Amino acid sequence: MPTPRPTSAKLKASDDDDEPPDYRAYVHNRCNGVTTVSGDDYLGLCDPMTGLLPVSTFCTTCNAQAPVGEFAWTDTGESIADYRKRMLATIPLAARVNARLIRFALILGFPTAAFLIARAFTAPGAVVVPTLALIAGLLLGVLASGMHMIATQRDFRANR
Ligand SMILES: [Zn+2]
Repeated sequence: MPTPRPTSAKLKASDDDDEPPDYRAYVHNRCNGVTTVSGDDYLGLCDPMTGLLPVSTFCTTCNAQAPVGEFAWTDTGESIADYRKRMLATIPLAARVNARLIRFALILGFPTAAFLIARAFTAPGAVVVPTLALIAGLLLGVLASGMHMIATQRDFRANR
């Protein structure tokens, strides 16, 4: 009786449909150039909660960033903007609002706290130190918000 070869089991595992794809291609509607996205860029592009501002992506033909509405997936023809809206609709509203509130609170909270603390420890009417504290706080807030975004990132790549 032949014993099953381990290689066949391995092959079957790699063909698993649950495995998210590593890369995907999109076409730019302005130049018709095709760009392949992979890694963290691919994860971020598929996650509709990525980015506080309108999201852009890179075209290797134009060698520039452009809004996601100018791109469509080559395999389905769906605009990436529409794709992200469709993915966003799968996230419960409460979870969406919650994540946005936390990110805005981080971005606004750090500079506000830094400014107030600097004001408390400087002479009345001092401007330079509180302003520097405000800027430093803003940088920290953006950083903290970005870290929250990465920490809560979900993998939408399996959804075509
Ligand atoms: Zn292009």
